[in-house]
Amino acid sequence: MASPATFSLRISEDIPLLDRTALSTLQINVGKYCNQTCEHCHVGAGPHRTEIMAAKTAGRILDWLAASEVESVDITGGAPELNPEFRRLVEASRALGRHVMIRCNLTVLHEPGMDWLPEFYRDQGVDLICSLPCYLEDNVNAQRGEGVYEKSISALKTLNETGFGPPGNMTLNLVYNPVGTVLPPPQKALEEDYRRELGRRHGIRFNELFTIANMPISRFVSYLKANGQKESYMGLLRTSYNPETLPSLMCRDLISVGWDGTIYDCDFNQMLDMALGNGKPLKLWDTAPEKLIGRGILTGEHCYGCTAGAGSSCGGSLA
Ligand code: SF4
Ligand code: SF4
Repeated sequence: MASPATFSLRISEDIPLLDRTALSTLQINVGKYCNQTCEHCHVGAGPHRTEIMAAKTAGRILDWLAASEVESVDITGGAPELNPEFRRLVEASRALGRHVMIRCNLTVLHEPGMDWLPEFYRDQGVDLICSLPCYLEDNVNAQRGEGVYEKSISALKTLNETGFGPPGNMTLNLVYNPVGTVLPPPQKALEEDYRRELGRRHGIRFNELFTIANMPISRFVSYLKANGQKESYMGLLRTSYNPETLPSLMCRDLISVGWDGTIYDCDFNQMLDMALGNGKPLKLWDTAPEKLIGRGILTGEHCYGCTAGAGSSCGGSLA
């Protein structure tokens, strides 16, 4: 990991020009189709979205993966399980010996014809990273939709029974993001609250809790604008800027590939159409992991969402 001393040029008030280190994770966003329409969604996903990864694109991504030594594959969406290529992407990545993480919204387990999912996750040996923005019903339903809490709790119980979460040997991590325009509280303390409350109320067990800040893009920025809160939220992110987060930002060692094969420094840049390229967007199969090392990362005002307070990434807080 490079030291902050390598951050030479500043392109905004605080965020320096970041550069890439060796690639450890390929994050595959299979598209924007989802069974939910959450208020904070940085993808703008929902049942009406038609952008989904085709079989040919999935095949080219898997060929690229096979030719690389990238250790981890992180599959996201939308609801990635609803993409027809989901099973193939997981099975082929695992057959190549790669560590696979699935970003699961939990309610997808209740979608028609999806009852095979828990055993599939277990048999493939994937890690699950599941969204649950609170242990209280009202807060979850306010952000993710009426009835989502009940379905999420039911899905977590099924996953526990399938061997995910302690004392089972399969990893079940949860993701918290704030309900509203505040920064996440300290991750460890909140994890203890989740463990106590989910255990006491529902007997649910999990491994770790990741806290993630709401990013000021897509559906969440529309929500901020509609409520006249965009400036105050951006002010909060800016004044909470923490340079200690810079060495651990996920864009340093992750590449994000979209449903059409275009690559980005992260899933947030993907949603802002900030593609890697020289004049035209670059496809994953037009580059190689070693060519990405040292390449400058495209940053913008939204990057304050990753660098505020304890920092934020797909793996939780940073500092
Ligand atoms: S936050 Fe996740 S579950 Fe909610 S709409 Fe977006 S992709 Fe779907
Ligand atoms: S949004 Fe976050 S992960 Fe993406 S480029 Fe900015 S700092 Fe890096």
